[in-house]
Amino acid sequence: MMDIEHGDFVMPGDVIGVSEQYLPGDWTYEDGGYIKAAIIGNVSANRHEITIIPKTTVPVVLKVDNIVVGQITDIKGQRTMVDVQAFIDSSRELALPYSGAIHVSQVKKGYLEKLTDAFRIGDIVEGKVIKIMGNNIDINTEDPEHGVLKAMCSRCRNFMVPTNNKDILYCEQCNRKEKRKISLNYDY
Ligand SMILES: [Zn+2]
Repeated sequence: MMDIEHGDFVMPGDVIGVSEQYLPGDWTYEDGGYIKAAIIGNVSANRHEITIIPKTTVPVVLKVDNIVVGQITDIKGQRTMVDVQAFIDSSRELALPYSGAIHVSQVKKGYLEKLTDAFRIGDIVEGKVIKIMGNNIDINTEDPEHGVLKAMCSRCRNFMVPTNNKDILYCEQCNRKEKRKISLNYDY
């Protein structure tokens, strides 16, 4: 976890350094002696300070079939709301602050009884853009590589780890198990 190098792509909550070595710069925070990333971006470190550089240079407008990463902000009725933060495979910044939605029928192949069996607020998710209406996009997470990339335990907020069951995450801190639509790229 500590082999972070200048330029590495990181996600919120990732440990990027230790407080003894660096001052926490832009888009980072200190937590128990560690410096962690507050947003998705690339690590930038000099001798004294470590920061996160959000996606930069030429803005990009999303297209259908682009793969995006974002954070779940709300789950209401049949839809999960996503604050879209990055366009995968591009170092470019999004031209608009896109708001994403994942309909319950677009989460996984087969039947999903309720959205909270797949996502929780705060989860980082990856998915494919299937529809664009201005800055609102619809996202599909059926692909095995899509779904939750990172999730915190809803009881103690510790980051959870995968289990032998592809639908279940486990909290090593409080032993809680929670269901998710987990990506093959889950980060732990
Ligand atoms: Zn826990």
